[in-house]
Amino acid sequence: MPLMTDALIIGAGPVGLFQAFQLGLQEIACQIVDALPHAGGQCVELYGEKPIYDLPGIPVCSGRELAERLQQQIAPFKVPLHLGQQVMSLAPAADGGWQLQTSSGQVFLARAVIIAAGVGAFVPRRVAIDGLSAFEGSQVHYYQTDASRLEGQRVVVLGGEDAALETALQLADSGHCASVTLLHRNSKFKAEAALEQALQQAVARGVITLKVGQPVGIETAADGSRLGALQIATGDDSSETLAVDALLPRLGLSPKLGPIADWGLAMERKLLTVDPATQATALPGIHAVGDICHYPAKRKLLLCGFHEATMAAFALAAYLRPEQRQLLQYTTTSPRLHELLGVAGSSART
Ligand SMILES: Cc1cc2nc3c(=O)[nH]c(=O)nc-3n(C[C@H](O)[C@H](O)[C@H](O)COP(=O)(O)OP(=O)(O)OC[C@H]3O[C@@H](n4cnc5c(N)ncnc54)[C@H](O)[C@@H]3O)c2cc1C
Repeated sequence: MPLMTDALIIGAGPVGLFQAFQLGLQEIACQIVDALPHAGGQCVELYGEKPIYDLPGIPVCSGRELAERLQQQIAPFKVPLHLGQQVMSLAPAADGGWQLQTSSGQVFLARAVIIAAGVGAFVPRRVAIDGLSAFEGSQVHYYQTDASRLEGQRVVVLGGEDAALETALQLADSGHCASVTLLHRNSKFKAEAALEQALQQAVARGVITLKVGQPVGIETAADGSRLGALQIATGDDSSETLAVDALLPRLGLSPKLGPIADWGLAMERKLLTVDPATQATALPGIHAVGDICHYPAKRKLLLCGFHEATMAAFALAAYLRPEQRQLLQYTTTSPRLHELLGVAGSSART
């Protein structure tokens, strides 16, 4: 069933989240889609624990904390968040507005679309080995995998960063797998100290095997129907074979602009050209905000993205309700905004 909404926001990064807040103040119903399994965009994915010092009125806060605060701020509007799916297509809908479809097959019908796609959708880095992609979804799992689906299997987790160590530890703790091997190209990890310590303990207990090497090829069943083993270069021109039932690559995520470039929108250096007064693209009802948009003197900063989201919300209110006179209301004093925010009647901030 298609989901109908006034506005669909592509991207749950900081700007997409604040866009939902601004649309809420304008009484425009919206939904958000993001390729990542969590909200926060770059703030969480690239610098979750690092401090931000240039947000007005907040002397310091981490990327993750900002994402949490933004989600708290939109809570009164109960915005549906569709995570772990990338918006793949955008086309005019039969009776006006836009039809969008995600990688999970979900269809949206939206009167307006706000593209807050930042530097692109964060997608897992793929393993570049001939023939491996044929086993994606059956034996090669790039996204979160339920340990119970790996019952009795010889699992190889690939990578040396937090996500790889976390996955290996979770699988080992679950007790579902026949074996868990962590394969990394060298013996140095780029992970939190606590995770490395837990890994060493798991190795000492014999529940995880560490293997140093680079996968360079695969061996399959005679009819090619199953992945049987990885060929691994172990340095000094030597190689070995590692039996595998399930391969879980955790090599990090990289942003990909992806299908947005094919939607017929004007672009300049992979960015969407907009009118900064409205954030409108050349297509009716499609606006772009945050790092993905471009106009003269654009700065890729959070503050600028938040401003753009505000401009886009006012413009969309005029676009969706042309008959209504636009009022500037303050959250401090407007009884209507207090009602929307669920704070009506509370005389003091708690
Ligand atoms: C290391 C670092 C430090 C920074 N420090 C600061 C700072 O101190 N102060 C400051 O002001 N700025 C800082 N920035 C910049 C700031 O993080 C960005 O300006 C901000 O994240 C832009 O937000 P956004 O929502 O536009 O995009 P993003 O944060 O990139 O979010 C976009 C989201 O859209 C999703 N997406 C993209 N395409 C699709 C699709 N087709 N379908 C579904 N989802 C999609 C992505 O998965 C992503 O989650 C920093 C950036 C970095 C990398």
